[in-house]
Amino acid sequence: MNNLKKYNEKRNFNKTNEPTGIVSKKKNTKLKYIIQHHIARKDHYDLRLEYKGVFISFAVPKGPSFSPKDKRLAIKVEDHPLSYGNFEGTIPKGEYGAGTVMLFDKGFWEPTSKVDFEKGPIKFTINGKRLKGAWSLIKYKENNWLLIKEKDKYINSNNIKNYTTSIKTDRTMEEIAQNTQKINLTSPDKIIFEKEKITKKDIFNYYNLVKDKMMPYLENRLISTIRCPNKISESFFMKHLNTNSKNIGKKKIKNENYYYIKNENGILEEVQMNSYEFHIWGSSTNNIKKPNILVFDLDPDEKLPIKKVREGVKNLKKILDNLKLKSYLKTSGGKGYHIYIPLKTTSWKKLDKIAKNIANLLIETYPNKYTTNMRKDMRKNKIFIDYFRNREGATSCCPYSLRLKKNAPISCPIYWKELDTIKPNSITIKNIKERLKKRDPWKDFFNT
Ligand code: MN
Repeated sequence: MNNLKKYNEKRNFNKTNEPTGIVSKKKNTKLKYIIQHHIARKDHYDLRLEYKGVFISFAVPKGPSFSPKDKRLAIKVEDHPLSYGNFEGTIPKGEYGAGTVMLFDKGFWEPTSKVDFEKGPIKFTINGKRLKGAWSLIKYKENNWLLIKEKDKYINSNNIKNYTTSIKTDRTMEEIAQNTQKINLTSPDKIIFEKEKITKKDIFNYYNLVKDKMMPYLENRLISTIRCPNKISESFFMKHLNTNSKNIGKKKIKNENYYYIKNENGILEEVQMNSYEFHIWGSSTNNIKKPNILVFDLDPDEKLPIKKVREGVKNLKKILDNLKLKSYLKTSGGKGYHIYIPLKTTSWKKLDKIAKNIANLLIETYPNKYTTNMRKDMRKNKIFIDYFRNREGATSCCPYSLRLKKNAPISCPIYWKELDTIKPNSITIKNIKERLKKRDPWKDFFNT
């Protein structure tokens, strides 16, 4: 039986940033493979192979060898959640596995023999960035197995120790360790939300908690943030940034420096610089002309009853369902909801057209309920369908971003079935913690 009971028992999730263990129910056609270099009490490499919703895991003290002559000890350890495949960072002192974890290799694996992780042996192929070809795992006693490279064109005399950087962030072990611990939060006690008594430290702690959930949406996407060095009423949008930080990337477009977050520390660094709201582009920096997210921001007349707002959201969902577009829902933190649709890449022009056509279809199908006019006085008893966020250079609120609004709400991913029970502004920095322990409603966003 694959389960994560042992994994969860060994860890205190209030202290470590490792993900909570939930068995994935998704049936992946390709099985994930990762290796993490882990400098803990002892230096070792963790080999993880996806099987039945978890990562079957082995600690390999010397790491894999590319030569069939070497038989490397691989100690079978507790199963890990698939979300562990994104984990890179430090595990605090005193916690299980305390030390530094680097994402060493990733890709897919495929069994070429019967899969039996109780008795073995298992033959398989790895298609990673650094490890490739045929391998086998042979059990010889209790939890002790041997990891052996099988003969094929991928054998070589290369030493695993020659790879010293992360496959994900290009950082060395030292850089990962320093980065995670170095962010020095200045004025932690400064009150940002006056009435709610929420400090800069509270906001920093919140982002530290959700940084791994936010990262897939921020990674390589140009951003704008809302900075608030003093009062919320004096906050402003930041679109351009000149920085030499390793955690933040720059991209020049028409002579202007746009920026993006490279890794989780980049989020925390932004918070240190008083950026508290994150807004993202619809495309990635490596494919800037090809957006892959469609966004609708449903912003109702302030006096429209919540029942009507929800009805309005459901109407849009119906249209999207009919178009076979899988949509994801989140709270806005204000009066409305946001609907996101992951797409195969398209052009900005086409995206704008799709968004406009859907908005118009909504207006035609349900007359008098919607408007695409931005003016607030044109919104009476109606919902403004903001589809204008699908244009090049426009941004939309990043999932899990805090909003600088009353009660410090979060723009939080929710399940469609929760639409009737969760108000657009009811998830806040003060009550979100319990929710974060549960499965992420948008977990499959980039796999749809
Ligand atoms: Mn380990």
